[in-house]
Amino acid sequence: MPARWSSTIVEHADEIRRRLLSALEEAEQTPDPDRRRFLQSVVVVGGGPSGCELAGSINGLMRHSLERDFRQLDPSHAQVILVDPGDRVLRAMAPELSAAASDYLTSRGVELVLGGRVQSIEAGSLTVAFKNPAPGTPEQRVLEAATICWSAGVRPSHLGKLLADRTGCTVDRGGRVVVEADFSIAGHPEIRVVGDLCSYAHTDNGKPLPGMAGPAVQMGGWVALDLLAQLTGERQNPFRWFDFGSMAVIGPLCAVADLRGVKVSGALGWLLWALAHLAFMPANENRLTLLTKWLWVIATGQRANLLITGRPDQHIGVEVGLEIAERAAAPEPEPQPEPQKEQAAA
Ligand SMILES: Cc1cc2nc3c(=O)[nH]c(=O)nc-3n(C[C@H](O)[C@H](O)[C@H](O)COP(=O)(O)OP(=O)(O)OC[C@H]3O[C@@H](n4cnc5c(N)ncnc54)[C@H](O)[C@@H]3O)c2cc1C
Repeated sequence: MPARWSSTIVEHADEIRRRLLSALEEAEQTPDPDRRRFLQSVVVVGGGPSGCELAGSINGLMRHSLERDFRQLDPSHAQVILVDPGDRVLRAMAPELSAAASDYLTSRGVELVLGGRVQSIEAGSLTVAFKNPAPGTPEQRVLEAATICWSAGVRPSHLGKLLADRTGCTVDRGGRVVVEADFSIAGHPEIRVVGDLCSYAHTDNGKPLPGMAGPAVQMGGWVALDLLAQLTGERQNPFRWFDFGSMAVIGPLCAVADLRGVKVSGALGWLLWALAHLAFMPANENRLTLLTKWLWVIATGQRANLLITGRPDQHIGVEVGLEIAERAAAPEPEPQPEPQKEQAAA
């Protein structure tokens, strides 16, 4: 994963943490009970792995800090709601893993709002519409929360559309570039597209590969080897994606994992998740630091201090590749005449 991307993710994670803790701080100072409740409420949209992980860790962070650092607040008023249109969270995983994740989250106080799709979001509230509401329940529900997190999907880079405009290649409904079996685009063997930006459907079941790190890394490696092989007039064997499985960490010492049919949840799932993370960590120093931190948290139950860093909205303008590309694609503004020079010329 490129360093620039990962650092953007770290900044966004920092921003979520800053907003949550700032909301709790404001809640502690406000005398209005309704406003307090609002400030202690969080909605996470999307019950996939990212949404479940986010809801679990926000819930853990809030409850931990309410117990230790915001003692004026009533922890029972803290509310984390996870919204998903499906009938269960983690729909891409086996039902028993979904059930394990749901049980963990609800037992820790997270409310699951299932079967409802978000219709609109504005600052402080969102509206969820239910397709088949249970008898006696409303078709819509408005959820009010100071913090709303979106984890219901990302859009691919603007580059896909740019490429389609310039070369006539096809993009799918989501904006991903449809590629050939060697990741080139139709009529342009010299252009290859890999990772989240491509839609690669040359699979056994014809379904495009998921937008995840594993396929992206394997695609990149395959194309690099294919380009090298081409230099000597050869080609690589056809690309085959090896699916190692999927995991989601729902809370401290709790994860669900489906590793090629081997399904585990709870502490054992967390152990596998932790081992996989340590194995993929780029440097031994990082590995050791992370392991020490984890062991400390497990042994003492303590988290790092709850410093609120940064000024409000400092990360909102974080530039990511898409924004850079959009800005580059935008027409240059017309140069404005300089009034003083005009006056001087007159
Ligand atoms: C919150 C979140 C959690 C995730 N969790 C997981 C997970 O647990 N497991 C998993 O397997 N996958 C996960 N994913 C998905 C995974 O991160 C992606 O599938 C993977 O990063 C795709 O790799 P990529 O190289 O195609 O794109 P990216 O990693 O997005 O890299 C693209 C890079 O190109 C840069 N770029 C864009 N436009 C331009 C331009 N015009 N010029 C120059 N550079 C440009 C971007 O800034 C970026 O650095 C997660 C994604 C998100 C958003």
